[in-house]
Amino acid sequence: METNLETSNCIKIRRLFDASAGSTKLEESEHQHLHECQLCQGVFYIFIGLHVNIPPAASTKKTSAA
Ligand SMILES: [Zn+2]
Repeated sequence: METNLETSNCIKIRRLFDASAGSTKLEESEHQHLHECQLCQGVFYIFIGLHVNIPPAASTKKTSAA
């Protein structure tokens, strides 16, 4: 028998991972949940941290404004 806790609404780890990688988009309801659930936020930010290992050197090119 399964116990359905309120937290069973949580987004699947796999979905959070894919979303953080940009390979999938979260549903509207999932976005909503992410805003309200610290557990999912924690997981999501960890995943984002994994993906942003690359230093943003490329984006800090010196743009010589004319
Ligand atoms: Zn959650």
